[in-house]
Amino acid sequence: MSFDAIRKDPADFAMPPNLDDYERCTADFDWESASRCLDGLPGGGLNIAYEAVDRHVHHGKGDKVALRWLSKTDECRDCTYVQLMEASNRFANVLARLGVSKGDRVFTLCGRQPQLYIAAMGTLKAGAVFAPLFAAFGPEPVRSRMEIGEARVLLTTASLYRKKVAPWRHELPSLQQVLLIDDGDPAPGCLSLAALMAQASTEFAILPTQAEDMALLHFTSGTTGKPKGAIHVHQAVLFHTLSGLYALDLHPQDTYWCTADPGWVTGTSYGIIAPLSLGVTMVVDEAEFDAQRWYSILESQRISVWYTAPTAIRMLMKAGAELAQSRDLSTLRFLASVGEPLNPEAVVWGQAAFGKPFHDNWWQTETGGIMIANFAAQTVLPGSMGRPLPGITAAIVKRQEDGHVTSTSAAGEVGELALRSGWPSMFRGYLHEQARYEKCFADGWYLSGDLASCDAQGYFWFVGRADDVIKSAGHLIGPFEVESALLEHPAVAEAGVIGIPDPMSGEVVKAFVALKPGHDPNESLRREILGHARKRLGAVVSPKEIVFRENLPKTRSGKIMRRLLKARELGLPEGDISTLESDER
Ligand code: ATP
Ligand code: MG
Repeated sequence: MSFDAIRKDPADFAMPPNLDDYERCTADFDWESASRCLDGLPGGGLNIAYEAVDRHVHHGKGDKVALRWLSKTDECRDCTYVQLMEASNRFANVLARLGVSKGDRVFTLCGRQPQLYIAAMGTLKAGAVFAPLFAAFGPEPVRSRMEIGEARVLLTTASLYRKKVAPWRHELPSLQQVLLIDDGDPAPGCLSLAALMAQASTEFAILPTQAEDMALLHFTSGTTGKPKGAIHVHQAVLFHTLSGLYALDLHPQDTYWCTADPGWVTGTSYGIIAPLSLGVTMVVDEAEFDAQRWYSILESQRISVWYTAPTAIRMLMKAGAELAQSRDLSTLRFLASVGEPLNPEAVVWGQAAFGKPFHDNWWQTETGGIMIANFAAQTVLPGSMGRPLPGITAAIVKRQEDGHVTSTSAAGEVGELALRSGWPSMFRGYLHEQARYEKCFADGWYLSGDLASCDAQGYFWFVGRADDVIKSAGHLIGPFEVESALLEHPAVAEAGVIGIPDPMSGEVVKAFVALKPGHDPNESLRREILGHARKRLGAVVSPKEIVFRENLPKTRSGKIMRRLLKARELGLPEGDISTLESDER
């Protein structure tokens, strides 16, 4: 099956797209003009929180809802820009009173509660570094990240503190204060956030941070190994803002929902900073994925721009397009996805369920923002990640043995995806791992570690992570292609593909498949799926073996951990599994 290009008809646009003419906009782009989308601190300097919150109040938009919070119990609370400004000022005052100074690390370990968003902005205002952790991490991953990051302050809840921090707290002397979100008396050694906030002023003079001052510390997903702490600076807000405009097509009238948790870079860059900087209303849902709940949020909150991830989309596909079709989702105008390759089947499914395709985009914790995207006004090629954002130069390169790289101009040739270094949200280091950081660069390129190709129209196609690519009988096989073909079979909900050693071919392809509800994992279905894959992919590329699994091992941010499938298959050590979501073997 091949997937047709999805062309856009200007008559269908509910709003004129921000990036209407890709060629013109990329050709005319320069960073100096682009930086006019920011205000800068009134006294000089740059601070993410000022751009995200306070400037809107100064522009007379203080009464607009910045954040609409939906609790697990269906409570709905609005926080306007002026309220967010005042609350984050209070938080910044609390930090100042606790002696937190510029560059200190403020960690958060909590669910998507309003205090998390207030703390993010307050921390940045105080000149400190915001380091969000995912609440579902176990004690060890929490500890190791806080150790690497030299946490000075932690914001968490009483129960998370008791379970995940108290047992080892005395071993981390840098951690001076723990603030608890819960009402009531705090645990020994902790402080009540509410009590401190009540005493704090709603006025705060934002520290005059500079563009290159450290602002954010994000840990990578740990898909390929031990997570790394990526350093980002205040200047990143320029790219968050621009990419929010271009890649997510955000307009001030939008109600926007990013489903990612701020514990992952997406949930901060696009779940806090970009939408706020662009002055939109963003919805935050405290609860975890549930198909019915998600549709009901899309409908009742009248979401217009929705940014989610392939795993969630595949789960919605599993639940059936009818669930979407039974809702009034007429306000939804732009759908985007990131985090993993988005199978063409899923892009096209968007058309059936929502009348619009999902727009895949590609980036990493290290890039800080969206680098390659399918844009609202541009043709979508299902299975392609799209084209580089204005201001971003991407290329396919080959590493040479002498450490240099050469870029290839041949359409369709597979190589490493590289970006010309120097964009504002590029990471400025891996904390305490300078050598590892330097190894990511050669000849002015940032080397992503992902393999891809670029076609004659400049669209990029993901092949796989360099570590996941399978070498079989002289062919390079990208797991994504095989997984996408498997997903086209109506019984397949998810697929993870690895290479296993083979005396003849070097490696052969093995697939792990999870079925949609109502399908029995029997031998005849296994053979049918093998046959389907062989027909689609040919004998060399198609899996030699398929095994059924209830679930595939994934990171908590929803990425299939192929390295774990492989380690288990070959009886090798599992490596760092701190980000593994519980799975069934
Ligand atoms: P680690 O670096 O610790 O192994 P990770 O690479 O999964 O973890 P992230 O920075 O969260 O950590 O993820 C970035 C990676 O996710 C990319 O390098 C790429 O492999 C994958 N990815 C993200 N978006 C896409 C996409 N649209 N298509 C294909 N792959 C994607
Ligand atoms: Mg990575």
